[in-house]
Amino acid sequence: MPALVTPQVETLGPPVPHGLGPVSRPGSGAAARKLGVLPMPSLEWNETVARETAHLYERIKTVVPPVEWPFFAPYVKAINELKKQRNAVILAHNYQTPEIYNCVADFVGDSLQLAREATKTKADIIVQAGVHFMAETSKLLNPDKVVLIPDLRAGCSLAASITGADVRLLRERFPGVPIVTYVNTSAEVKAESDICCTSSNAVQVVESFGVDRVILIPDEFLARWVATQTPVKIIAWKGHCEVHERFTADELRKYRASNPGVQILAHPECPPDVLAEADFTGSTSAMINFVKSKRPRKVLMVTECSMADNVQVETPDVEFVRPCNLCPHMKRITLAKILDSLVYLREEVEIDPAIAERARRAVERMVQLKN
Ligand code: SF4
Repeated sequence: MPALVTPQVETLGPPVPHGLGPVSRPGSGAAARKLGVLPMPSLEWNETVARETAHLYERIKTVVPPVEWPFFAPYVKAINELKKQRNAVILAHNYQTPEIYNCVADFVGDSLQLAREATKTKADIIVQAGVHFMAETSKLLNPDKVVLIPDLRAGCSLAASITGADVRLLRERFPGVPIVTYVNTSAEVKAESDICCTSSNAVQVVESFGVDRVILIPDEFLARWVATQTPVKIIAWKGHCEVHERFTADELRKYRASNPGVQILAHPECPPDVLAEADFTGSTSAMINFVKSKRPRKVLMVTECSMADNVQVETPDVEFVRPCNLCPHMKRITLAKILDSLVYLREEVEIDPAIAERARRAVERMVQLKN
């Protein structure tokens, strides 16, 4: 951890309304025409389904009540069979619900981990259990594969906060200053950037240029936190995550008062006063590593609330205090929609080739940076 420095940050950009983020064109159906639509499998709950999925329920029994499993299990069984039939993989973000994260996902992680997995897969089809910009990132890294997002409306308030035209104006205003773009942006915005970053590697990416001033967009709070970790001056944008901006320092103080000894871990998309109350700040993967390696008796993760369920599955000895802020966009992805994706091969993610080539360069530069 670098020494703390006086943060130097300048924030630009209009306040932006929260929205769904750029919605790409619906899939053309090319994959469905080429590979065919499959019959919808049976979704009956019976003894065979119970027996064949029992080992998966065992994983999540601490966070999913038994009464819910008969609804999930037929989907889980059908999805796992269809993945083999389609030679498909499911990449699931840490904010996905436990039955997706633990029972059908092939790879789980934060945006950076999923982007890295996307470069390695030998599958023909990637189903992104996450939001639209993540599926676009997978498509950028796998232009010849079919990439599906189970619900095209799964957007992101950060991705909605900035456009490619905004980035071009920033470049005009600050000629020669490198532009680092958080992966939570559209391909169009990535295409105007020098390199991407995630919350795991933002400090490393900012410092990789060896210059004294860098533009880091669009998350203002991530930029402010990065500015506390590096002497590089940061020019930021006024985008916010609608989930993390809702946490307050006062709320954390109350949780700490009623849970003596609790370790508070916060995501850098939270406001600065919230981070000041936390014992540790880091990306979702850094928070997971913290809990797994340090095994605190009691922990509060200041992030989307499915994370606590997913980490709880692997660390049953840790008690989780759970403030619950859900991401409505992540929650658009359900088992039923994942099954539809695999049966009907929808919604196919497509990116304009002229944008894709430049956006890919920005993502690849990030993926190629050493850990
Ligand atoms: S949690 Fe925040 S940053 Fe992540 S997808 Fe939802 S709105 Fe976007």
